[in-house]
This record gives sequence, C-alpha cells and structure tokens, in this order.
Amino acid sequence: MNKEKYLAELSALPAEGKDAVCLYNEISALAMRHIAPSPRPRCSAHYLSIEYLIGRMFYNNLMELGVLEETAAVLAGKGVDIGMFEEIEDAALGNGGLGRLAACYMDSGAATGIPLYGYGIRYRYGLFRQRFEDGFQKESPDDWLRFGDPWSIRREEERQIVHFADMDVVAVPYDMPVFGKRVNILRLYAAEGSEAAQKIGDVLYPADDTREGKLLRIRQEYFLSAAAVGDILRAYEKRHGRDYSHFAEENAIQLNDTHPAFAVPELIRALKARGLPHRTALRIARQVFRYTNHTIMPEALECWDASLLRRILPDIAAILRALNNSAAYFRRKEGYSPEELSASALYDPARHSFSMANTAVYAATKINGVAEIHSGIIRSTLFGAEYAHHPEKFLNVTNGVTQRRWLELADGGLAALIDGCIGRGWREDFDRIAELGAFSGDEKTLACFVRVKEENKRRLFSYIASKEGAAFGEGRMLYAQVKRLHEYKRQLMTAFALLRLYFDLKEGKTDIFPSLFLFGAKSAPSYRRAKGIIKYINEIVRLINGDKETNGKLSAVFVSEYNVSYAEKIVAAADVSLQVSAAGTEASGTGNMKFMMNGAVTLGTADGANIEITARAGEENEYIFGARAKELETLRRGGYDPAAWIQKDPAWERVLRTLKDGTFSDGGTGLFAELYDSLTVGASWHAPDQYFIFRDIGEYYAAILRANADYGDRLAFARKQWNNIAASAYFSSDRAVREYAEKIWSIGGKNGREGGNGA
Ligand SMILES: *Cc1c(COP(=O)(O)O)cnc(C)c1O
Repeated sequence: MNKEKYLAELSALPAEGKDAVCLYNEISALAMRHIAPSPRPRCSAHYLSIEYLIGRMFYNNLMELGVLEETAAVLAGKGVDIGMFEEIEDAALGNGGLGRLAACYMDSGAATGIPLYGYGIRYRYGLFRQRFEDGFQKESPDDWLRFGDPWSIRREEERQIVHFADMDVVAVPYDMPVFGKRVNILRLYAAEGSEAAQKIGDVLYPADDTREGKLLRIRQEYFLSAAAVGDILRAYEKRHGRDYSHFAEENAIQLNDTHPAFAVPELIRALKARGLPHRTALRIARQVFRYTNHTIMPEALECWDASLLRRILPDIAAILRALNNSAAYFRRKEGYSPEELSASALYDPARHSFSMANTAVYAATKINGVAEIHSGIIRSTLFGAEYAHHPEKFLNVTNGVTQRRWLELADGGLAALIDGCIGRGWREDFDRIAELGAFSGDEKTLACFVRVKEENKRRLFSYIASKEGAAFGEGRMLYAQVKRLHEYKRQLMTAFALLRLYFDLKEGKTDIFPSLFLFGAKSAPSYRRAKGIIKYINEIVRLINGDKETNGKLSAVFVSEYNVSYAEKIVAAADVSLQVSAAGTEASGTGNMKFMMNGAVTLGTADGANIEITARAGEENEYIFGARAKELETLRRGGYDPAAWIQKDPAWERVLRTLKDGTFSDGGTGLFAELYDSLTVGASWHAPDQYFIFRDIGEYYAAILRANADYGDRLAFARKQWNNIAASAYFSSDRAVREYAEKIWSIGGKNGREGGNGA
C-alpha cells in the first residue's frame, strides 16, 4: 500500500457533518483503493470452509496495512474519535471455533506470504444476534450488510452458474482482500437468481431437522463446493488450457471439515465434463484434496440421504456411488477386513446414506486432527480402518490463533508493554515472544502487567455496563468461560460450581478474593438443553448479584451477543480461562490460546490443546483437574453412575436439586426438569450425565478455590500469567499455517516463501 498517498487523501477527506457509517465507508473505500491483490503464483492452496467468523474488519485491516495509528491521528485532528466505528460491523459468517480458525488461517497465510485463497458463502445474514429476555435467549437476524460492505469487491465478470436438477443458481463472487506480506483473497459467493436460489445464501446452518432443511443444507454445501472447484479450474485453465496434467501439482484444496466435501465428486464431474476419462479424473481428485477433521461429536459427522441427493444432484450421487465402489475394490485388494471395509465405506447401505467424512478420508492425501490428543483419537477410533492401512496419510496440526488480532489489536496495553521488553518483532515472528521469559523475575515488569490487566478490566466492565446494564466494582479476579453453548463444554458444571461457591460463602464455609465469573455463549436456536442451561445460569447470576451480603466477594455476568469483538475485550481482561470440556470431547479449542496469549492461566481439563498449553507453560502455571480421556472411556464402558459421585459430597446434591426444587424458575417451560433428568436418568440416546459433570466437579471446585487463594499473592500469580504469554509462541496461527504449507500442501518453505515449489 502507498501509505503516503493514502494518508494525504485521508487528510483531505472532509469529515464535518458526516455520521459514523458514512465516514466508515469512505475511509474503508479509500484504503481499498490503495491496495491490489498479489499476483497468483503457479502453485497455491485453496481453503474451503462453510464458515468464516471474521469479526470487525475496519481496525484489523488498517492495522495489517500499517496505518491504524496514523489514521487515528489524522481523524483526531478532524475531531473524530476512531473508536466511533466500534458498533458498525462484526462479520459473523460463522458460528464458533471452526469459523474463527478459518479467519485466523487466512490472516496468517497473508502474513507469512503463503498463497492461500479462501472460499466460502456470502450469507445474507450472519449468525443470529442474541439477547436475553427474562434470562431466555432470543434470536434475531443479523443484517450484517446494513452498513455497507466496503471491504469486499463484487466480481460480476467471474460469476458462475451452479446447476441443480430442479434449478440453476448464480454464484457471484465477492472478494475480500486479506493483508499481510502478501495480499490474498477470501472469495465469498453470493447466491442469486430465483427466490429459491437466493435462499441458499440466506443463513448459515439452517435448521436441518426436516427434509426441506436437509435439502437446503445440501444445496449450500454443493453451492460452495461447485463454485470453488469451478473457480480453481478456471484459474488453472487460463495457464494450461485443457491440459490437466499439472493440476494436482499446482493446486492443493483443503477441506475445512466435511461441509465442502462435495468438492470431491464435483471435481470428478467437472473433469469428466471436460472430456477426461473417469479413471483420470478420479486419480487427479485423489491427489488434490486434504481434509481436516474438527470433531468427533456424532451429530456433527454428516451423512446425507442418497434419495435426497439423487433428487437434486443425480450426477453427484452417481459419482459418490462409483467412488464407494472403487474404494471398496481397491481396499479389498489392499487387505481391508470386512469390518474395516464397512467402517470406512462412503455409502452406508443400511441407512441409505453417504458419509461425507469417509468420502473426504478416501479422497484426501493428508488427513489431520487439530490437537495431539484429537489426532490420536481420530486415528484410533473414527478413522481407525484407514489409519491401519495408510498411516502415512495422517498427521496432526495443532490449531493456532493470530497474535495480530488477538494480542496486538485486542490488548494494546499489553502489546506496548511487550514492545518495551523485546521490541516489535513478535508481530511477524511470534517465536520471539519466548524472550519474555527473561522478564518473569522482574517485579517491575510484572507490576506493569498487573496494571495493564486492571485497565483492561475497567475497559471491559464499562463496556459490559453499557451493553448489559450490570456494574461491577474494581479489583476483582476475573474467571471467564466464553464459547458456544454445548453440553460437552460443560458450562453447566461451571454454573454448579459457582452456585456452590455462593452457598459456601453465604454460610461462611469459605472465604475468597473478590471474584467475577463471566459467561458468554450462544446456543443453537433449536438446542433445547443448551437454552435451558442459559436460562439456569442467568437465574444463578440474578440470585448472586442480588445478594448484598455476598456481593463484595462474588458476582457474575452472562454477556449477551458474544462475538469476536466481545471476545477481544474479554481475553484481554481475564485472569483465568475456564476450559473444562469432558476429556476427549474438545478437539482443540482456540479460545484457550487467545486467553493464554493475553496472560490468563488455564483452569481446565486435560483435553484438546489444553494439554499442549500445559506442556509448554508448565503445570505449575496452570490448574489442570479432572478425569483424563482414558478414564472417561473406561467409565463410559463400565456403567458410570453419577449418583454415586454425588453422594460423596452432599453439597452437590443440594446444588443439583435447585434444578427442580423451585429455587429458580424456568418460566414453566420444563427446561430445568429436563436438565435434571439428563443428569440423573439420561435419555433413550444417552446415559445419565453423559459428560461426566459429577465425576469432575469436586476437583473443579477445588481448583477454582486453589487459583483464588493463589491470586492473593498478586505478583506470584502475575508471574504464572506472564509465563503463559512467554510460552504461547507455538499457538500462533502463523506456525500452524506454515505447517500446513510444508507438510500438507507442499507449497512454500520454512519461511513461507512466496510462490512455492510445487508438489
Ligand atoms: C475463539 C472463538 C470461539 C472458539 O472458542 P473455543 O473456546 O475454542 O470454543 C468461539 N467464538 C468466538 C467469537 C471466538 O472468538
């Protein structure tokens, strides 16, 4: 970018009488005029993802362009506070960790100079906006385009038609440049045409509990896959015409989970349509794709009814059947047992459905999990058959997050303190953050760190006061659990521990350093239990905050509309990061990494990336508790009995009873009784307390109190926090993306060389 020219034009821009939205659009457009995408090298990687949880682009983009501070200064000269754009946008084209990971990887691809091109859907509405009414979650549409979208460019000339048996859909790309050492492109496709066609691009994850809903999901997934494959082929054909012999060597296609897995049969279909024999098309497809698995939750492992597919995508259904047959043929020759054949089959004849995960596994040259423990679990369970015969296809790439958004932008105070210690180089080379280790014995630095944390808390609390109307005093230890609401993440366990803490305080059984527990989470609109948990936590929050007797010690808040911008403020302020999933259920987590980078200790289970965080920061700097994955596996098989665990400590009995003894009201919805039953008797599809809350809660409570007691020595606790920051180098998405480039895509060298050297 030509900074001088941009700044000169910005200085000349009249600001008087313009409102925030108008200025936001004009400044963004001005910046966009001064940048151009980097030339596309011969070899590149393509990232296909149904979600991109981008967050606010304005500040991040100006920061990446290196003009954020100057822009703020020029605007200040015009009497404009750059903070006025805070409420304008927050592109939430994603749901949680998976979508945020995609956004971090796009950021890091550009920053490290790797030619990485993202493909996704330009949803008309982002993830729903959340508010609480009487403690219940209410949803409303997120009209994220209402302020304009100055950071995208519509590429009319590159539109394509995506064909379904019953309709054609126009796919129009919108390009979002991603700034760094290179300027890469995130290409999001809008669905246009008939009313039915437009519906495909309406919302992320439409409810799929009906046949119509399932059809819509299939259409979305195919729409993304077909548009991306068509675009990659077109770019290739510009260089090579109809000679496809270099296609696999020049293109890597990364499937971010299975949603874009239709790209596999679609590439075969498209190559055959261009005259290639099936065998050649299949061979090319089996050289191009890579697959990242993100979860072992059964409900997230997509299987699509063959009858639905045949109806709207008969060619794709036929290719999937052919793939299934050729997979079985070759695997039999390779010595797969009948059990292995059926476990890895693309088509399940009993359920008449296609497994998208097995399709991705068959096609992919590389399959990765997202943390060591998770990569181990998929090798031994989910994809055990394939691993037994093709271990070379499997590897781990532990997730990462970008230190630029999550430290530099989110925590300016800490960034400045770090600059003072080790210079500014950590923005591009996060390994340098380890140099902070030399300062962990320096009390002056630690005292500065504590001041930064307190300032960040003040900033967060005043934001919460304006958003939620809840006020909190200063000088509190801040525990935070923010993430999607799901039973496996065990927000309910935190709620129980919090309620126990309140009871114990009230009865003088314990004393603590004044603390605030902060929750933030959205529940899927149709997920009843998760919504019950939200209501229950809100009831507990009301009880605790309403009690003047304990208020000086304990308060709680459930922030509404948790999103990327909220997360930026929360990770900067938190002292303790609660990461308490049942061991073996959280693939990696990335929230845990953001907190670590900002100097929160992890109070959590030995799950996902918590394990690697602890290994790097040292056990003495975290609070790890609870059953390991192996123990839970044994309990699962051996008939776990939560009642027996509850009886060990009557206090938990009392806490659990509040779900049905009238302590709290669920407004007559029956939600609390359902939660109670899920923990005590289970349901037809699961055993009681399937995520082992009562196995772990005693240890959880003890860990909360232990951390609290340690916090009394603020400097000693600050040292633990500081040691976490210093140990966080590995959790940069720059490291993760470089690993993908080297080990999975085979493009770019150790330093993310521009271009790349082919497969
Ligand atoms: C990082 C992030 C997540 C993922 O959090 P986990 O704790 O890893 O589940 C979800 N939502 C938002 C807004 C995030 O920024």
